[in-house]
Amino acid sequence: MQLLEQSVTTDSHVHISDIRTFRSCRQRWYFSSPMQLGLSPRMPGKALFLGTVCHDSLDRFHIIAADMPSARRPAYMEQCLNETFQNELNRLRRLLTTDEMNEMAIDISDIFDKAEAILLNHVAWCETNFFTRFEVEATEVDFVVPLMPEHGVHFAGRYDSLLRHRNTGRLWLLDYKVSNMPIVWYTQYLQQLDDQAKAYVLACRQIYGRELEGIAFNVIRAKPPTVPKVLKSGEMSRAANQDTTWAVYERALRANGLSPAMYHDMRAQLEEREEQKPFNTLVMITFTDETLELFERSMKQTVREMLRPNIYPNPNFLNCKMCSFKGPCNTAMQHGVDSSIVKRELAEKFVVGRYVQDAQELLETSSKD
Ligand code: SF4
Repeated sequence: MQLLEQSVTTDSHVHISDIRTFRSCRQRWYFSSPMQLGLSPRMPGKALFLGTVCHDSLDRFHIIAADMPSARRPAYMEQCLNETFQNELNRLRRLLTTDEMNEMAIDISDIFDKAEAILLNHVAWCETNFFTRFEVEATEVDFVVPLMPEHGVHFAGRYDSLLRHRNTGRLWLLDYKVSNMPIVWYTQYLQQLDDQAKAYVLACRQIYGRELEGIAFNVIRAKPPTVPKVLKSGEMSRAANQDTTWAVYERALRANGLSPAMYHDMRAQLEEREEQKPFNTLVMITFTDETLELFERSMKQTVREMLRPNIYPNPNFLNCKMCSFKGPCNTAMQHGVDSSIVKRELAEKFVVGRYVQDAQELLETSSKD
């Protein structure tokens, strides 16, 4: 156990990922938090790259998509994806060596195709489930509100969109979750336990007051619907385990000159499947004042501990995510977290960068898969 001199003192911005990571493993928080070393893996990894590109494309798309004719929206989403993908690639080119870039190149076109299919499916879903229900007031909104001003500590975050509900006129925060987690995890776990949902509603009530009703998570599966196969007989496959939607299936039928009227059985089957295992869904969460007050107290308690943190690894099976800092974490156990050997290992494999928060979220959710 080691008491670090570096600590949270004045004008610190605490993010919800700091609170979650600090509670689960302080050593990981020390390595990854922008309040401490702020390191992230040099190579973002396939899932993280896909999530980042989808997030950025959705933010761009939704700021003006509601005001354009439906027929133009798919092409506009393609344009958003092309731009964000190119930006991410340029950013990686500046960051990675040629060898590392070549290693990434194997996955890059695969990631683009996957993102394209996921996002176009999202656009189709929005036509009946989103545009008719919400107006988008802003996207990519950063906020900073006082948390413990006596210690110079503020709570900071970013949500993806601010929505106004067309029927009630109330405001909702929106956050995208591009994930392979089972949907039930979001509907049950987020509602009851998720700290991000509570923290964001609590913080943004300071900005929007009681006009803010709650937070909505647009959960998007990190897997596009499968395009069905045409059999040698010329019929479309009726395999029961196809992970797809009726919309994609119907499009494939028409593209192959087959009549959807002959596939009513598949329509019923796929619509039922999509209800149980949707590719897009909206989980809308509200909290009572008592829940938010309790959460605020516990959040401040954690921040008080961050003010003079004891840093130690937490390698028990509930908290240790075998995270991307596993290597330096093991070395630190032998040589101490401030040893030169740990510093060298960190310098070789990690960078300060924008992936820190995305990576923390991904590590947290992937451990529950
Ligand atoms: S490997 Fe486990 S104990 Fe080590 S920093 Fe990561 S989460 Fe913590």
